[in-house]
Amino acid sequence: MAWDFSTEPEFEEHLEWMRGFVRAEIWPIETIDSEIGQAELDRIYAPLQERVKERGLWAAHLPPELGGQGFGQVKLGLMNEILGTSIYAPNAFGCQAPDSGNSEIIALAGTPEQKERWLYPLLAGELKSAFSMTEPETPGSDPTQLRTRAVRDGDGYVLTGHKWYTSNGSIADFLVVMAVTDADEKPHRRASMFIVPVDAPGVNIVRDVPNMEHPGQHFGMLGGHTEILYEGVRLGPDALLGEEGDGFLIAQHRLVPGRIHHCMRWLGVARRAFDMLCERSLYRPVRGGLLRDKQTVQNWIADSAAQMQAARLMTLHAAWKIDTYGSSAARMDVSLIKFFGAQVLHDVVDRALQAHGGLGYSTDMPLEQLYRYARHARFVDGADEVHRESVARQILKAYEAPEDEIPTEYVPARREAARLKFASLLDTVAVDG
Ligand SMILES: Cc1cc2nc3c(=O)[nH]c(=O)nc-3n(C[C@H](O)[C@H](O)[C@H](O)COP(=O)(O)OP(=O)(O)OC[C@H]3O[C@@H](n4cnc5c(N)ncnc54)[C@H](O)[C@@H]3O)c2cc1C
Repeated sequence: MAWDFSTEPEFEEHLEWMRGFVRAEIWPIETIDSEIGQAELDRIYAPLQERVKERGLWAAHLPPELGGQGFGQVKLGLMNEILGTSIYAPNAFGCQAPDSGNSEIIALAGTPEQKERWLYPLLAGELKSAFSMTEPETPGSDPTQLRTRAVRDGDGYVLTGHKWYTSNGSIADFLVVMAVTDADEKPHRRASMFIVPVDAPGVNIVRDVPNMEHPGQHFGMLGGHTEILYEGVRLGPDALLGEEGDGFLIAQHRLVPGRIHHCMRWLGVARRAFDMLCERSLYRPVRGGLLRDKQTVQNWIADSAAQMQAARLMTLHAAWKIDTYGSSAARMDVSLIKFFGAQVLHDVVDRALQAHGGLGYSTDMPLEQLYRYARHARFVDGADEVHRESVARQILKAYEAPEDEIPTEYVPARREAARLKFASLLDTVAVDG
């Protein structure tokens, strides 16, 4: 029997250190982020990143030969639960999305030259990157419909298209772009990935799209979601990542473990909101007692605890499955946690905000910001509907429609079969009686 829910003491020490570090050094950044620019943010990060490196926790998502720790998904999941408590934490640990996913795919599919030019500086924190797939004109939930084209030109390509929500695109040094290279191929072989320097002629950074998370105009800061026009960008053959047509294959490698990290980060956010909910319930006097005395609030606390526990166990189990059997074996588990985790995040933050009333709705508490953040979880990383559809399809493969459309559990038919099965015994009983 190998089931085990314990954490190795040495690793628990790391987690304990991370909890203290993130709370003391990172959470304060949130309160001044609107007053500082990217250069000041980078200055704040520099000594923090050094401390993380000294502790041996830098870029932990990567294998040891690339300077990571080779921790595997369960440990990374536990780390991400702590990093999720603040949007500023992952960058201090060298595992900021999309840099983390991009470093994984360049490590996987990059040539030695691409690794030298892009991967190692990215890992050292000298470069920033972005992942440019979603387009305003086509559904991000079905990237086989992408319109951005990379047309062969001599031994290179010419890239033309329109993207948005390229996170960190306005501070990136290079962009990993998904573009169609052969529109006549099978849907999942149509697109390829390219590494595009942001200063290449024809890369037009239009804006950071104001959104629920950052409703005001906001440009050139970590966490911006950038609109980009690729206007006849000339790329050499060295820009292609992997083989032509490998775009979806490479993206898949990035997505499955990435979802474990996201779900654990969402649990970190949910836990933070849950702590605020519990604290509030202990002191807020309402008619007839404190909030903690009201059954509705007790239900919120109990239901939130149960949902978070369920999501946590599901996510860590999916992580264990990836570590034990590989990403493909865990695809359905990862789809399950994607939509379940997104709902848990939303529900817990919503209850905590409700318990704080006007204070929760105000910017004097982080809850309104967490609420806006939580909303995107339900459609990014594959819309919840798409994951549910995929889960249902996979589950239904194990079932068959009954002959004559009579349900397998139809009681009259089963009763008839039972009478036949036990006929001799029933006769005996009748005679004995
Ligand atoms: C904060 C944030 C960061 C992001 N970062 C990046 C990034 O770095 N790089 C990048 O390329 N993209 C990024 N995105 C974009 C994101 O991946 C897309 O928004 C997402 O894939 C959904 O695509 P869409 O917005 O085009 O919605 P659509 O694909 O148009 O879907 C809209 C809605 O249609 C419904 N729907 C879709 N398919 C189905 C179906 N099969 N069955 C039933 N209903 C369905 C769902 O309700 C869905 O929400 C980011 C988005 C956000 C909000």
